[in-house]
Amino acid sequence: MTETVVAPAARRAEELTESTRAHDWRLLVGGELVPARSGATFANPSPVTGEVIATVPDADAADVDAAVRAARAAFPAWAATPLPERVAVVREIANRVRAHADELRALDTLDGGNIIRLSRSDAFAGAAMLDFFADSAHALTGQTIPASEGAVHYTTLQPIGVVARIVPYNHPIMFAAGKIAAPLVAGNCVLLKPPHQAPLSALRLGELIADLVPAGVVSILTGAGPATGDAIVRNPHTRRIAFIGSAATGRKIQEAAAQTGVKDVSLELGGKNALIAFPDADPIAVAESAVRGMNFSWSGQSCGSTSRLVVHHSLRERVVAEIVRLIGELRIGDPFDEATDVGALVSQEQHAKVLRYLDIARADGATAVAGGAPAEGVGKALIVPPTVFTGVTPDMRVAQEEVFGPLLSVLEFDTEDEAVAIANGVEYGLTAAVWTDDVRRAHRVAAAVEAGYVWINGSSRHYVGTPFGGFKSSGIGREECVEELLSFTETKAVHVVYR
Ligand code: NAD
Repeated sequence: MTETVVAPAARRAEELTESTRAHDWRLLVGGELVPARSGATFANPSPVTGEVIATVPDADAADVDAAVRAARAAFPAWAATPLPERVAVVREIANRVRAHADELRALDTLDGGNIIRLSRSDAFAGAAMLDFFADSAHALTGQTIPASEGAVHYTTLQPIGVVARIVPYNHPIMFAAGKIAAPLVAGNCVLLKPPHQAPLSALRLGELIADLVPAGVVSILTGAGPATGDAIVRNPHTRRIAFIGSAATGRKIQEAAAQTGVKDVSLELGGKNALIAFPDADPIAVAESAVRGMNFSWSGQSCGSTSRLVVHHSLRERVVAEIVRLIGELRIGDPFDEATDVGALVSQEQHAKVLRYLDIARADGATAVAGGAPAEGVGKALIVPPTVFTGVTPDMRVAQEEVFGPLLSVLEFDTEDEAVAIANGVEYGLTAAVWTDDVRRAHRVAAAVEAGYVWINGSSRHYVGTPFGGFKSSGIGREECVEELLSFTETKAVHVVYR
């Protein structure tokens, strides 16, 4: 393992920038840390300082081809490696991520704008995901089926071969580390495509595991735009593509994948998730859950955020007042400060998008009762304070479209049917939260909402081992569970005739 460490003790953006700029960032291809074959790079700015913090390789189709060649060459030996040995490699990746958590979290905060506290928990969450799939390896079993007399019929689960993991920017190290786990345990070789906005922790991960993972088994390919991911999707040898990102990109990937083969594409996409609060719920608990559910600490950049509060008329006033009070206690400031609660949006583009939605919401007739303008006194950090809009109606764009920012819309209802209709009246179906003390209503509404992940009297939290994924335009497939591991295998049925 390389001993080069990127400013492990850095606590401030300026300190860290010096070392990220001086560092020679490289792809991981065929077991080697290499520049892009063309020599192309792109400038990577920080949303905390506005300055360029690194020059990053811009991989193109030639780099993807080289990674795929290396992966295909490595596959037979990796697939034949005894499961306990593959598992040991995955556990050691987790150990290295934990051992370098301080460094990785600092990179993510500088690169992606998340607050330092949460960047740290992301590093540990990535390691926990590696451990979870190592623990789940025993699920890679087949069946025997009594299908006929005089024969044994059994199934085996085999790895697919070369698989792709294309991930978004909101949890950089958690996705980079955690999402290679299932493919590796199942015996595949994996191409990881980190987000262009926050690629550094994934590239650092490549340095940390280059000597650990056999050459070609893991490749890490960064790029300035869609071209790198597109080349991965179109390569005829990547037959399994697991994508996490926006619905718009997910649809492009389905289309591109179909042009070069019959491919297994899973999609973890966006959400416009509802938290429904019924009249019997405690308004203080609802408000606390609505604030937590919005993931303001990630500036709302979380797919599962309950960005629509669908609240009964009778509770609205008390719930909104408490939300505004709680938001007022959140500290906005330097993402490197352990005391800060709200971090920066990832990029100028995302910042501009959120500001645009503030205007759209107002123009459509909604009222900002908290936030509603860029943060002041935070230097160049791209921060929009937690914002709450009341007077939102289901047809408004801010109630229909995913903003992926710190923007909570409050909608009101009278009847249970109306609440469910509002919750389901969007194209997405990722998460939903239901607040009520009525057990019958809780189960009825949980069954009726079109969402893949439902909290009753809760929000926001993920429980590792339970399937996460969406209905409708929120995706195809489930992750963070055994189903994710099995999705990186092919089932083979074998018939042994003995009579
Ligand atoms: P995005 O779709 O713009 O990009 C995601 C990844 O896809 C990036 O690595 C990007 O470089 C790559 N990419 C872009 N165009 C591509 C193309 N044509 N072909 C192949 N790859 C391509 O998403 P984003 O803005 O980075 O992330 C935000 C989105 O991700 C939101 O919609 C959010 O809800 C979603 N998300 C979903 C989950 C989930 O588990 N359901 C988790 C996190 C984020």
